[in-house]
Amino acid sequence: MIQNYHRPVDLKEAAAMIAADSETVYLAGGTQVNRAPLDRELPKSVIDLRDVVPTKINTEGTDLVIGAMASLQDVCDDERVPLPLRNAAGFIPTRSVRNQATIGGNIGAGRSDSYILPALIALDAVARTTEGNIRVEEYVTGSHQELILDIHVPVPVGACIAVKESRSHLALPVVSAAVSLTVEDASPEDGPSGACVAVGCVARKTIRLTEVEEGIVSGRLVDRADLEEAIRNAVSPRTDILGSAEYKRHVNGVVIADAVVRCLEELS
Ligand SMILES: Cc1cc2nc3c(=O)[nH]c(=O)nc-3n(C[C@H](O)[C@H](O)[C@H](O)COP(=O)(O)OP(=O)(O)OC[C@H]3O[C@@H](n4cnc5c(N)ncnc54)[C@H](O)[C@@H]3O)c2cc1C
Repeated sequence: MIQNYHRPVDLKEAAAMIAADSETVYLAGGTQVNRAPLDRELPKSVIDLRDVVPTKINTEGTDLVIGAMASLQDVCDDERVPLPLRNAAGFIPTRSVRNQATIGGNIGAGRSDSYILPALIALDAVARTTEGNIRVEEYVTGSHQELILDIHVPVPVGACIAVKESRSHLALPVVSAAVSLTVEDASPEDGPSGACVAVGCVARKTIRLTEVEEGIVSGRLVDRADLEEAIRNAVSPRTDILGSAEYKRHVNGVVIADAVVRCLEELS
């Protein structure tokens, strides 16, 4: 049960509060913190971030800067936000959850079934934290917990698509992924010079399918059937109430290969 509620007025006070009590967690929108799944108790103490972490979305040079306390509905609604990230935020079911949930909280929660993380990784976004700048990919794959202040999203070059698949609009996903392909300006006809295939729902954290990425860039993986097989073989989902491991491998192969093919078509 949550017993202590703190509301710091600046970052210095927030840092002192988190250092003083190892059982304290940050409270952003609270949609994750206030959930008490059977395997986890609610935290004892929370630090409300509303007065110390930015909520606004702004441009800074060529980057888009999204305050970590921006709600996922704000991310959906802002036309300056790259489309794959807007789409990913819109995959979270119900406007009431999107209004409350924040982008910083989504990164902090680090859920394997996050829709936001694959999109941020595919867009090569960088988090500005109290400890300095760090790529979102590194933040999520490492054991980082530092306070995120905002997220810098560079202007996408090339093609980028976020995808999801779930039994119903409200159900948890069996596929959550984003694909981005980049091309050198000088020779777009040579195909993509860089690829990112970021995938949730198939491991404890969001992962990148590096062998698939290499196959795309080398030109070995172009056909839909080859892509599907390579993706199926690259993921190891677990059987659970959402579906068998075999079904999840199949559906990830189909949906993510389709995203790669659509990105390749967009580039050609
Ligand atoms: C009905 C429902 C459906 C949901 N479906 C999904 C889903 O499909 N996919 C999904 O990913 N999530 C889902 N969630 C979980 C949750 O809504 C999202 O992960 C949300 O983005 C968390 O944001 P929040 O602001 O509510 O975070 P909070 O619950 O406030 O915090 C989450 C974690 O992040 C940390 N944190 C918060 N802000 C920061 C920060 N600025 N810097 C560092 N750490 C921070 C907190 O300490 C905490 O550990 C769902 C929740 C509900 C209630």
